Amino acid sequence: MIIVGALVGSSGAILSYIMCKAMNRSFTSVILGGFGGGGETSELSGEKNVSPGSADDASFIMKNASSVVIVPGYGLAVAQAQHAVREMADLLKKHDVNVRYAIHPVAGRMPGHMNVLLAEANVPYDDVFELDDINSDLPNIDVAFVIGANDVTNPLAKTDPQSPIAGMPILDVERCKTVLFVKRSLSPGYAGIDNPVFYNQNTMMLFGDAKKMTEEIVKSL
Ligand code: NDP
Repeated sequence: MIIVGALVGSSGAILSYIMCKAMNRSFTSVILGGFGGGGETSELSGEKNVSPGSADDASFIMKNASSVVIVPGYGLAVAQAQHAVREMADLLKKHDVNVRYAIHPVAGRMPGHMNVLLAEANVPYDDVFELDDINSDLPNIDVAFVIGANDVTNPLAKTDPQSPIAGMPILDVERCKTVLFVKRSLSPGYAGIDNPVFYNQNTMMLFGDAKKMTEEIVKSL
């Protein structure tokens, strides 16, 4: 029991270390400090316009693209949308679209969360890329399909030193030609902050549950 306990304890410590490194936070600030403000839509979102779209819009844009990067986050896990996403990717590939997945190390709520979900849906390992391996290629990508992710795409991490996610490396989805954001509302994610990418001209918001919206896109495709 002592050996098993030691193994469990050290595995937890290693995972926590990986998580802190990916968030650019010290271990003590993660354990002791608060993070975010608790899920309210910020004032900012009330003042700015977004471009909402439908499943048909998304399917038209993606099937006419030559490259799509899927960025999954916590909402994909909540909605259990991984199988629908895999189905969507398979259909897009039939339209000769190059489809890849971009995984942020702290997307979801535990290290490796997205990798586990995608593996469960039998997404080919060769299609899955870590942040460091795909970020520099994002400006060449036609469409970023951000599904249930939020903080891991928030550029305030780079531009606002007061932000709770300041210094955290992010996936630069706003550099893709078009960004499709699947989420239910403009609510913030875990860090409790608004995401300026929602209001960009090249962003289309697809409001809805991640699984339901992806299934509608699949139907449209
Ligand atoms: P976020 O928590 O930033 O955002 C998740 C988004 O998913 C929300 O904005 C929510 O928006 C949306 N969502 C929730 N349910 C659904 C649904 N059913 N359908 C569609 N969308 C949904 O997630 P990220 O993965 O981008 O970032 C992870 C965050 O968690 C980071 O801040 C990270 O630091 C933190 N964290 C990660 C850990 C890890 O080890 N991975 C551990 C601890 C913290 P809406 O309500 O509008 O739908």
